[in-house]
Amino acid sequence: MRITDIQVGRLSLPLAHPFKTALRTVERLEDVVVRVVGENGLVGYGEAPPTAVITGDTIPSILCAIEEYIKPAIAGMDLMDLDAVMERLDGSMVHNTSPKAAVDMALYDLWGRTLGKPLYQLLGGAKTAFETDLTISVNPVDEMVRDALEARGRGFSILKIKVGKDPALDVERIAAIRKAVGPAVKLRVDANQGWTAAESVSIIKAMEDKGLNIELVEQPVAARDFEGLKAVTAQVDTPILADEAVFSPADALHIIETHAADYLNIKLMKTGGIHNALKICEAAKKNGVKCLIGCMLESQIAVAAAAHLCAGQGIITMADLDGPSLCASPLMPGGPVFDGAMITMSGDPGIGIEAVEGAQWQC
Ligand code: MG
Repeated sequence: MRITDIQVGRLSLPLAHPFKTALRTVERLEDVVVRVVGENGLVGYGEAPPTAVITGDTIPSILCAIEEYIKPAIAGMDLMDLDAVMERLDGSMVHNTSPKAAVDMALYDLWGRTLGKPLYQLLGGAKTAFETDLTISVNPVDEMVRDALEARGRGFSILKIKVGKDPALDVERIAAIRKAVGPAVKLRVDANQGWTAAESVSIIKAMEDKGLNIELVEQPVAARDFEGLKAVTAQVDTPILADEAVFSPADALHIIETHAADYLNIKLMKTGGIHNALKICEAAKKNGVKCLIGCMLESQIAVAAAAHLCAGQGIITMADLDGPSLCASPLMPGGPVFDGAMITMSGDPGIGIEAVEGAQWQC
C-alpha cells in the first residue's frame, strides 16, 4: 500500500483561557496539520504545534521540513513496511521532531485505517479508558486557586500546577491550592526548568515538610542540566519526572541508567512520533520506570494520537492530555472520546478523527 501524497495545512483555534507557563504565554492554538494519502484512497491525519521554546520548531520550519525533506524521503514507499518507512522518516533530517511527529502519526493513522483496527489495539491494547490531569497556568495565587477549584468542579481529580516563574512564591501557590481543593485531588507540580538545583531541593523539601502531598515534580531544572536533575532526584522524597530533559530514546536510556529522574514524560513532539515513543516505552518497561504521556498545545488530532499510545502501552500509567480541554472550540468527530477528565477509546480504525474541521489545506 503505497504512500501517494503528503499534504500540509494550518489550523487555528481559540483557547478557552490564555495558557501560561514559566516559558511562555499563548492565546490561540496555531498548528500545522498533515494528511497522508494512501493508494487505497484512505487518509491519515497528523498535527504539529510550533513549540519553539521547547523543540525549536516554528510554523515555517515545520512546513519546510515536511515539504522539502520528509515528503521526498518517504513518498511512494510501501506503508505496510512500517519500520522501513519510519527509519527513512527519522533519517530525512536531524532534529525537527515536531514535523516528524506530525507525519509519523498520520502514517500510523493511515496504517490502522488500512488494517481496519483502532491504533491502540495495534500498539498493545493495554487499556480502553484512562484519566487525564488538567493544567493550571502560572498566575497570581488567587487566580490559580480559582482555576483549580473550577477544574475540580469540572470533574478533574488530578491537577498539574505550573510554577517556576517566581521560586519565592511557589510553595505559597501550592499550599494555597492544596488548602482549597482538599486532600482527595492529586497534585502534580511542573516547574518547566524554572528552578536551580539548590532552589528545587529547598522548595520540594518545604512542600514535603508542609505535608502538601505532591504526586510528582516535573522538570525542576534546566533541560540539559542532567547533573542538577540527578542531584534533586537523590535529595528529595517526592518523585521527579523528566520532561524537557528527555526527547530521544537515547535521552531516556541515559536518564534511566544514571537515575537522573524517577519517571519519564513522553511527548510525541519531543520523540519525533510514535515509533520512537515505543522505543522509550520498551526501555522503561525493561527497567520498571513509569511513564507519563504529555502533549504540547495540541488540538484533538495530535492528542488523540497520544491517547492511542497511552491506551496501547501499560507502562504509561499517567496522562497529561488536556489539549482538547483547553480549546474553546467543539470537539472533532471520531476517535477517542474526550469527556472532561476521562478519555475513552473508540472502535474507529486508525487514530479515528473523521474530519479536521477549520483547517486551511495548501494543495
Ligand atoms: Mg512539562
